[in-house]
Amino acid sequence: STPLLQVRDLQVHFPVRGGVLGRVRGAVKAVDGVGFDVMRGETLGLVGESGCGKSTLGRAVLRLVEPTAGSVRFDGQELTGLSQRQLRPLRQRMQFVFQDPYASLNPRMTVREILEEPFAIHGLARGPGEREREVAELVDAMGLPREALARYPHEFSGGQRQRIGIARALALRPDLVVADEPISALDVSVQAQIVNLLVDLQQARGLTYVFIAHDLNIVEYVSTRVAVMYLGRIVELAPAASLYRQPRHPYTQALLSAVPVPDPDHARTRLLVPGEPPSPLAPPPGCTFHPRCPHAMERCRRESPPSYALGGGHFAACFLAEADAREAPAAAPSGG
Ligand code: SF4
Ligand code: MG
Repeated sequence: STPLLQVRDLQVHFPVRGGVLGRVRGAVKAVDGVGFDVMRGETLGLVGESGCGKSTLGRAVLRLVEPTAGSVRFDGQELTGLSQRQLRPLRQRMQFVFQDPYASLNPRMTVREILEEPFAIHGLARGPGEREREVAELVDAMGLPREALARYPHEFSGGQRQRIGIARALALRPDLVVADEPISALDVSVQAQIVNLLVDLQQARGLTYVFIAHDLNIVEYVSTRVAVMYLGRIVELAPAASLYRQPRHPYTQALLSAVPVPDPDHARTRLLVPGEPPSPLAPPPGCTFHPRCPHAMERCRRESPPSYALGGGHFAACFLAEADAREAPAAAPSGG
């Protein structure tokens, strides 16, 4: 079967302005030549530290930010170049779940209004009776009481608000859901409940997920395959079992052995990988991971490693994997 989503050589570069005249001085390569497939019904975990470009990539895939170059095909149809009007019928089929459900829900709308809005925007659900039934079904599926419909977002806990955010994303029965750190802002005690809800909904509704996280442990349970991002590129991509059993990229290895530490930016903890991520404004030459890599060789300071196919759908963009490469490397770090 054809993949539901095919991403090729995707770039999102943001201009950087400076000086008193605010002239363009360069570009942040937030996403810098990324390629992957997502198969129907699978979950692709997309993991990396803050600022690696994973949120931008998730948004670019749904055209919530404009890619600078490259291709995104959804169910065989090229999305780049479509006008917002042409995108509209496809928008129903691709939805985004935000990290902070409170910021993404209109505080002046009741839950009923929030859940009815997508139907109104897309001119769906024939009469008020049908809309009523769809909305009632949604709150049931989210494990929320029907009384919730008359209340406002601030009346709910973080976990319940995320349930409302998920309900809104699923209202139009999408095929693809991109969830951007959907549990990072929640208490640890409710994180597992939301993950389980997402897994149940995936099975019940045949959903395909891109699940973005900064922590490999969070996506281990949900992912079919995992892509690890570093400074705008995918440095490793593999079936989950293969990635956790035999991580091939030193950055993935560092993420897996990282220790959680308190982080003011994320609700609870972040993982401490030795060294600081370099500025995306001035990425290091060669392999961008080389300043933090315990295995860096002379070559790594000069050359950028391609993505080596290691067999079994496992790809790693590291010279250490070169000897095990099964085929000529792809032009861009990619896979799938
Ligand atoms: Fe480390 Fe070199 Fe591999 Fe980059 S290419 S991850 S610097 S060994
Ligand atoms: Mg983010």
